[in-house]
Amino acid sequence: NVSVVLFTSDLRLHDHPPLRAAGDGGRQVVPLFVRDRAVDLAGFAAANRLAFLSDCLRDLDAGLRERGGRLVMRSGDVVDQVCRVAAEADADEVHMAAEVSAFARRREERLRPALEAEGRRLHVHDTVTTAVAPGAVTPASADHFAVFTPYFRQWSAQHLRDTLAAPRAVRVPDGVGSERLPARGDVQGVSEGLASGGEREGRDRLTAWLGGGVAAYEDRHDDLAGDATSRLSPHLHFGTLSPVELVHRARLAGTPGAEAFVRQLAWRDFHRQVLAARPGAATADYRTKHDRWRSARSAREDIEAWKEGRTGYPVIDAGMRQLRHEGWMHNRARLLTACFLAKTLYVDWRIGARHFLDLLVDGDLANNQLNWQWVAGTGTDTRPNRVLNPITQAKRHDPDGVYVRRWVPELEGVEAPSVHEPWKLQGLDRATLDYPDPIIDLPDGLARFRQARERG
Ligand code: FAD
Repeated sequence: NVSVVLFTSDLRLHDHPPLRAAGDGGRQVVPLFVRDRAVDLAGFAAANRLAFLSDCLRDLDAGLRERGGRLVMRSGDVVDQVCRVAAEADADEVHMAAEVSAFARRREERLRPALEAEGRRLHVHDTVTTAVAPGAVTPASADHFAVFTPYFRQWSAQHLRDTLAAPRAVRVPDGVGSERLPARGDVQGVSEGLASGGEREGRDRLTAWLGGGVAAYEDRHDDLAGDATSRLSPHLHFGTLSPVELVHRARLAGTPGAEAFVRQLAWRDFHRQVLAARPGAATADYRTKHDRWRSARSAREDIEAWKEGRTGYPVIDAGMRQLRHEGWMHNRARLLTACFLAKTLYVDWRIGARHFLDLLVDGDLANNQLNWQWVAGTGTDTRPNRVLNPITQAKRHDPDGVYVRRWVPELEGVEAPSVHEPWKLQGLDRATLDYPDPIIDLPDGLARFRQARERG
């Protein structure tokens, strides 16, 4: 009577259906995390996420130890390792959370028969990594929603399961060995300002958010300098927080801010149901195909300037530097920097998405790729040809230039609104500024984009 719980992107003890089901009836449980070699081979093991993951694993282990258990850590091929641990523990069941990527599906497809061949069963649980499971709501004539608004209407009407308490005790059988848990200090190349991971950290942040910032979220979520969003995205990515619990607790708050926050959580589920139905959308254009992007070679210098935050557009450069420094970027800045690359520079969104995934601590296949597609006009945006102007946007969302000056110290002495258009400064002010001229004129970028789209 032993179960294995395979933790993947659900690194928590609270509101965890697989752990609850595994321990039912006093069964012994082996909590297992496998550092899957395939994740490294696919190039997804970015330093910032590995560092955050190390915090999460250590915190999960600490939480399990408080309950009489411990975390078992292995590395290698995930299917081999799960089978091996199940055999060592003589487990008859393995429980895990459902996930949507092609990679996660293949894992499940390989794991199930491998376990069954040894007389063990795999149980895959919904609503661990989403509030509403992909496929739980569908339009009348399709297998998934391609437009957010009707999805959100049905999503909002769904009855969510109750939140589950963390188990009081976890009984782990003897004799199952574990590798040493990784530590943040083992990882090279981590962003200086990277946030800390772990369930405790996530829960503290959530409680503080719901007791404070969320009230002003509706009005302030686009305020670049105010940093008035929850910053819960890495916790949602690693599953140190449960989306179901977040929705329940935010709804209890009941304010317009909390409702606007819940709507963003629905966006997360929306992208997941798209990816679940169309796993290829992680790399292939989802709705509108575009193949006229400039070649990576001819756009090389522009791409480098964009990555390094020296395009000459202060708000773009601020966003890109925040990304490098924190492994995180404000949503409005993500929209502006992505739009600038895909539409103004007319560079393939996949190049930008890859760079984001290399740095983002919340870097997430569904959210990242499908938001990039949305911005690039190949995805679910119902107005795919809109182009955000970085100057008007900067004046609106960073009116005093505080965000820009925070990340672009070369502009420290420049006041708003000039700080958003430093090339317009005159005389000495301009001559002494150690900041590049714009790499492209916005009207030129817009004309190229429109022409290319007209030609289809
Ligand atoms: P809040 O504003 O506090 O929102 C709460 C939560 O809602 C977020 O943590 C997130 O889980 C979810 N959410 C918010 N906005 C979106 C959205 N547009 N789509 C899906 N879910 C959303 N988010 C990621 O989690 N991982 C990514 O890799 C990622 N890449 C992005 C790339 C681009 C080009 C763009 C435009 C957006 C991307 N986003 C991504 C969505 C969004 O920018 C982040 O989720 C958000 O900035 C995280 O900050 P927060 O936790 O303070 O968000």
